[in-house]
Amino acid sequence: MELTIIGSGTGMPSQTRAYPCTLVKIKGKHLVFDTGPGSLRQLFLLNVTCLDIDHLYYSHFHMDHSLDLVSILFAMRYHVPKRTRPLYITGPTGLQAFYEGLLAVYKDGIDPKTFDVHLKEIDRGEVVYEDWKIVVEPLKHFTMSIGFRIESQNGKTLTYSGDTGYCDGILRLAKKVNTLILECSFPDEQQIEGHLTPRLCAKIAHESECGRLILTHIYPNCDMVIRNNNHHLIAELKNIYHGEIVVASDFSRFTV
Ligand SMILES: [Zn+2]
Ligand SMILES: [Zn+2]
Repeated sequence: MELTIIGSGTGMPSQTRAYPCTLVKIKGKHLVFDTGPGSLRQLFLLNVTCLDIDHLYYSHFHMDHSLDLVSILFAMRYHVPKRTRPLYITGPTGLQAFYEGLLAVYKDGIDPKTFDVHLKEIDRGEVVYEDWKIVVEPLKHFTMSIGFRIESQNGKTLTYSGDTGYCDGILRLAKKVNTLILECSFPDEQQIEGHLTPRLCAKIAHESECGRLILTHIYPNCDMVIRNNNHHLIAELKNIYHGEIVVASDFSRFTV
């Protein structure tokens, strides 16, 4: 699996971090997890166009994770050559209503005419595909938020938290995973319900015994603490979790 953090930021604008979006490539397929505003262009900077996207996975429907679905459908509608391959969209309960709501607002501008859209709502469980498997657990964030564990055919594993607080769901998804991507929204001194801090991320990484921890979804306040205090902070986290810790930037790339 090839993993690229497309946007390592949040709903707050940042000069260095784009809105949340993560790309996973498996066997030539493009799996995109969350598409905050501007994600389509961020993907395009890596030569991934709206025609290349095979699967869209949504962790929840806060705007910073979902808004660019509109731009993606719009681009697919008008792209030449036309998209003919089906598009698969997976998300928690509410996906169907969200999608229909967008169609009601934007109508013909986004209504796919040349390809099929397959929506799948899932709050917990597994979906098995030809070359990979997805495991879904509900997480503690917002009415229906989910996280994903992706397992490739050769046994490699990757967990993407979306937004979450510390909860059993993320521990189950992260259990002994090769690479764990966690949201790291706020500094430890400004912890908010339904979100993680650097120390909570390290605690989850330690308890789940993951192989590598990647921190993303970094709000400006947390970013400031990381930038001003990087060595000290990472050293502190390494006391809790002994594996590799990476603070993601936009376009950070990893092989899993
Ligand atoms: Zn978010
Ligand atoms: Zn959220």
